[in-house]
Amino acid sequence: MRVEIVAVGTELLLGQIADTNSQWLGEHLAANGLTSQFHQHVGDNHQRMVLAFRTALARSDALIVCGGLGPTQDDITRAAIAEVMNVPLERDEKIIDVISAMFASRQRSMPENNLLQADVPKGATIVPQTRGTAPGLICPVGQKVIYAVPGVPYEMTDMFERAILPDLLERQRLTGVSSVIKSRVLRTWGTSESALAQALDDRFDSLDDDARMTIAFLASGIEGIKVRLTARGDDEAHAVSLLEAEEKTVREIITRELGDIVFGVDDETMEVAIATRLLERKLTLGLAESLTGGLIASRLVNVAGASSWFRGGVVSYASEVKFDVLGVPEGPVVSEAAALAMAKGARRVLAADIGLSVTGVAGPDSQDGQKPGTVFVGLATPSGEQVTALHLPGDRPRVRSYSAISALDVLRRELDATHV
Ligand code: ATP
Ligand code: MG
Repeated sequence: MRVEIVAVGTELLLGQIADTNSQWLGEHLAANGLTSQFHQHVGDNHQRMVLAFRTALARSDALIVCGGLGPTQDDITRAAIAEVMNVPLERDEKIIDVISAMFASRQRSMPENNLLQADVPKGATIVPQTRGTAPGLICPVGQKVIYAVPGVPYEMTDMFERAILPDLLERQRLTGVSSVIKSRVLRTWGTSESALAQALDDRFDSLDDDARMTIAFLASGIEGIKVRLTARGDDEAHAVSLLEAEEKTVREIITRELGDIVFGVDDETMEVAIATRLLERKLTLGLAESLTGGLIASRLVNVAGASSWFRGGVVSYASEVKFDVLGVPEGPVVSEAAALAMAKGARRVLAADIGLSVTGVAGPDSQDGQKPGTVFVGLATPSGEQVTALHLPGDRPRVRSYSAISALDVLRRELDATHV
């Protein structure tokens, strides 16, 4: 069952409002195993709306039109649908009664214009309105169907759940072909989108003709690059098994080609990945932050219950604080030696099992002869110490936020690789 969405409204084309309705509908169609391959935007213009609806009907089985059901001259969805159905509009007395009762309950009389909302293409079924004045429409066109719902988001979602979705699922059941769509997101840190795409090139090609599985990349800035796997199964269990098999294959390819870069799945952020691992091993963490100035601590305390594994952090911004509080030996503070001493100092001062530190140059100017983006991450654990040098791109805010997630990823990799 292919369902196309047409969002009506010149304000959408002008960028005056964002089309959150299509976003919501796309998500809820997919969650119910309904395919949507095209979304259209069209202005409040009769001819162009007719063209959009005809185009949609030519390539999809069902069409959800949202917007343009209001009482004003630019609300012309009803007339455009009637033309596509090749039927006249008929005024429905029962709708007039409901709308005028609505006005009466607010002690107002119904403006003449609202009569337009009682116009129904001949042969259409009405979806009674509970929240606004415009009823929705279910309009059969041969074996296909056009649904019309208001543009106001809470009226649209209400009608979709109450009437459109049940009708779609019933139509899907009658075709005898049902499907369930399941997605999983693998979150990665430490590589580029193109390197990921290259690693998965062969896998991509082999999926080309197989509409059951798709792979997509989503570059998500300081959250890394996400790889989304989407499976279409005959039922829930089938979709889950397809997805699990694909996840295994894709993880193997990524690890072989690019190393241990997958840190989490779905909603699991880097801080959640760290929290899970530290909790599992009953380890505590202390931080020493220089250029990140508390950004890492701030990310960690996003996780509820962080106090059971996060001891705290020292924002050792001035060199003297590094020397006096953390016991860093005198010398250049953007260096491997300083990062190591900071990590050990944090571990000691904060009485934590693990000390993690960052020192580096956020820019715009160089420091200690090091260029902006040069960052050292120190790690001190019960079983040893290590330091990682990074060269991060971008301006000051980017270098700082990349440093935060990169430092956490250094710790995450160490926790996964060893039995700290
Ligand atoms: P009503 O029957 O309540 O007048 P309508 O069907 O005429 O609604 P529109 O006039 O197109 O719908 O839109 C009403 C309001 O709903 C818009 O001002 C806008 O705020 C919101 N809206 C419309 N379309 C969308 C959309 N695609 N995504 C998000 N919001 C939308
Ligand atoms: Mg309107």
